[in-house]
Amino acid sequence: MTEKLQSAFKKLTGKGKLSESDVKEAMRDVRMALLEADVNYAVVKEFVNKVTEKAIGQGVLESLTPGQQVIKIVNEQLIELMGSSQSKIKWASAPPTVIMMVGLQGSGKTTTSAKLAGYLAKQGKNPLLVACDIYRPAAVKQLQIVGQKVNIPVFSLEGANPVAISQQALEYAKKHSNDVVILDTAGRLHIDDEMMQELEDIKSSVHPDEILLVVDAMTGQDAVNVAKNFNERLAIDGVVLTKLDGDTRGGAALSVKAVTGKPIKFVGMGEKLDDLEPFHPDRIASRILG
Ligand code: GDP
Repeated sequence: MTEKLQSAFKKLTGKGKLSESDVKEAMRDVRMALLEADVNYAVVKEFVNKVTEKAIGQGVLESLTPGQQVIKIVNEQLIELMGSSQSKIKWASAPPTVIMMVGLQGSGKTTTSAKLAGYLAKQGKNPLLVACDIYRPAAVKQLQIVGQKVNIPVFSLEGANPVAISQQALEYAKKHSNDVVILDTAGRLHIDDEMMQELEDIKSSVHPDEILLVVDAMTGQDAVNVAKNFNERLAIDGVVLTKLDGDTRGGAALSVKAVTGKPIKFVGMGEKLDDLEPFHPDRIASRILG
């Protein structure tokens, strides 16, 4: 995408004066670059319309450096598309803050739960990880392993259902002064009613302060559709976009906010447990523009 955009911009900056049709031609290239990057079609359409409108109006074409001005507009619109500023975690007024992690199996939910716990511990928090996936014994074991690696305690309860586990974990956290409780819920390979029902039950029983949906950036538009579905059912607070290190296209990063209305809060940048970063729309925009 970066290469394609750069070649579109070269055409603009190569000319001294720009006409409306120069801008429109460049926007056709931008449109292609975004579609090839797997950005949602409706998002691309609105994006290109907005940039064109701004570039043709506002005296841009009469300015001394019209090409640069158009690139600046593209940059600003990319940032706006992703949410303008960095979206932070919503803290509970009285601890513990409950963060409920949801997502499909394989998206990186368990890894991200541990990454987030480690990240928050570095900021002085005292998190507790909670194993709510009772269907796969391996999932509990996996959380214990990654929890140990980041030095965060893991709460699990054999034979109990996820609602009871979450409730008891909260009690445990209060007793042990854990100010953040991170619930690693069960995922499935596909969205199904039973999974959603279970997540709704947990939500209505523990009232999480933050529901974070974990999606795999490498699945492109599928990630965005998953986010749309989860948001409609659960009213999520934000998204963690994992495997951005392996995503060469960037379509999910650009579409999630516009399609769901919910911001990306963190990105996963690798398999290591410290490969988690807050999502900065401006940095991603500069990376895309090269
Ligand atoms: P879950 O089924 O959703 O709990 O997914 P896991 O946490 O087990 O992760 C699935 C796979 O994705 C594992 O091999 C993780 O190491 C890998 N993974 C998770 N996050 C990232 C990331 O940000 N980058 C890369 N490259 N791999 C990741």
